[in-house]
Amino acid sequence: MREKLIVANWKMNKTPLEAEEFMQHFPKEVKGISGIEMVICPPFTSLVQLATLMRDTALMLGAQNMHWEKEGAYTGEISPLMLKEIGVKYVIIGHSERRKYFGENNAIIHKKTTAALNCGLIPILCLGENSEERRSKETEKVLKKQLFGALDEIDLEEEKLCNIVLAYEPVWAIGTGTPASGDEAAEVAGYLRSLLKEKWSALAGNVRILYGGSVNRENISEFTGKKDIDGALVGGSSLKESSFAGLIKAVFNEGRS
Ligand code: PEP
Repeated sequence: MREKLIVANWKMNKTPLEAEEFMQHFPKEVKGISGIEMVICPPFTSLVQLATLMRDTALMLGAQNMHWEKEGAYTGEISPLMLKEIGVKYVIIGHSERRKYFGENNAIIHKKTTAALNCGLIPILCLGENSEERRSKETEKVLKKQLFGALDEIDLEEEKLCNIVLAYEPVWAIGTGTPASGDEAAEVAGYLRSLLKEKWSALAGNVRILYGGSVNRENISEFTGKKDIDGALVGGSSLKESSFAGLIKAVFNEGRS
């Protein structure tokens, strides 16, 4: 059984003080939630502090990016080893904003994914088509290229590879207030799982697939109610304690009804 996973992507929001304020309330709001992994990915400047504040809570720590080398002359970069040492468990790789604004291509994403897995971090690999690609019915083609671009010829045993998390994030749905429908997202999640089956039959059933793009507490169940969708990557709705806790409680209550 795949455990549900809800991940907050704070992007470039919250100073360390604001992050601390969030952590004064949020753990209390989700106390008693079980059966759902809850992850927060703050900016790098709040990682160490959140690692401390998350002690004795059920929350886990994620990073929004990393370099693929363990160390070296890469000014301004953060390595997977550095993340691992401070208690980071997950790392978002290949977010569409990094592809768009920082030139990340499939080759870079391949290196980052491999490095994360090798260092014992769980990559949350983001995949998604833009509106033009959807309009011209190229969604599957684009996703296949992104998925195999990131994972092909990856020199790892399936045991390590099955830790990976995929996040289907249609670019047109991110931060727009216009999510995909539950059916659209489920169709793509099913397609991604079928691609995994083609190449790595043993791991396809274990890999968690998230949906991301304008998810909130009102619409989350449309996605998590689908058989191939195991949770969500949440941007805007993760910034306020009450809205993020409300979203998580909605998923928790689904499991109980
Ligand atoms: C994201 O950036 O990963 C995301 C899903 O953002 P939002 O929830 O704001 O659409």
